[in-house]
Amino acid sequence: PCGLVTLHDVGAIAKTKVVDGAEKRGFAFYVGGGLGSVPYKAKLFDEFLPEEELLPISQAISRVFARLGEKRNRARARLKFLIASLGIDEFRRLVLEERQKLDSDPRWTAYLSSVNENTEEALKPGTGLNGSDRPEGFDAWYATNVYRQRQPGYVAVTVTLPLGDASADQMRALADIARRFVKDTLRTTVEQNFLFRWVSEADVPEFYKAIKAIGLGAADSATIVDVTSCPGTDTCKLGIASSRGLARELRLRLGEKSLELDEAVKDLRIKVSGCFNSCGQHHIADIGFYGINRNVKGFQVPHFQVILGGKFHDNAGEYGVAIG
Ligand code: SF4
Repeated sequence: PCGLVTLHDVGAIAKTKVVDGAEKRGFAFYVGGGLGSVPYKAKLFDEFLPEEELLPISQAISRVFARLGEKRNRARARLKFLIASLGIDEFRRLVLEERQKLDSDPRWTAYLSSVNENTEEALKPGTGLNGSDRPEGFDAWYATNVYRQRQPGYVAVTVTLPLGDASADQMRALADIARRFVKDTLRTTVEQNFLFRWVSEADVPEFYKAIKAIGLGAADSATIVDVTSCPGTDTCKLGIASSRGLARELRLRLGEKSLELDEAVKDLRIKVSGCFNSCGQHHIADIGFYGINRNVKGFQVPHFQVILGGKFHDNAGEYGVAIG
């Protein structure tokens, strides 16, 4: 789910299809998504776009948008508004017409022969846990932060960053941990955490000890406790309410109760934005909040608007609705 395809201007979900007896790679291709004050879910442009068409179609989309998109009002200068006004069928027709006008460019496909060259390798052989000693707190952390890879013996490990923060010392230590366990690559996630892939499962207890020693042993990744937030009024000049303040408080209070929470509640997502611009992606949370001003006795007072029913999974499968 991590690409969150439906909330972007252009999104693609990899798939394969058998064409004339041969398997072809391509994408389910979506256009016109976006959050902000007027959220739109992306619409299906093509249920199977062959990989060699990804760049020329994107170029054709850019040209149509450059020609017909909003020029005066910056807030409306988004692909989602153009597609909403034209309709997806007319937009598709214009893009395909534009595609026909493009001169063929070898760069559209030159990269395809080398797309697998960046494939990562493991530092160590993949070995199971094999009854290794489990440090205190390990089992609860393992249940929420460790995922089996498709390769036997390897796991992907999420290092939870409360509020998405890490200090310089923690970053240096994480670099050392990466070199020790997974060569030297770690990955950022859309939920403001770090993901280490290719950890040999037998190393996970030592990995846990190492991150716990630098204060990053928090469990509850991808649960209701792992609240994500934009910077909000801490530093953003557009911020209306303290999204980080609310996220910190929710994280603290829910964390205290996390062991008692019902399983159905545990997996809910909470996301907080400091204003309607949605940098905290509140629309795709089960429970979202964004900052608004309300007039109280003649004063503008920051409040949070509650949004319910969004869906992070299925590539941001549903947008929530405002309550109250
Ligand atoms: S949602 Fe609003 S407050 Fe938060 S970072 Fe974006 S613009 Fe700033």
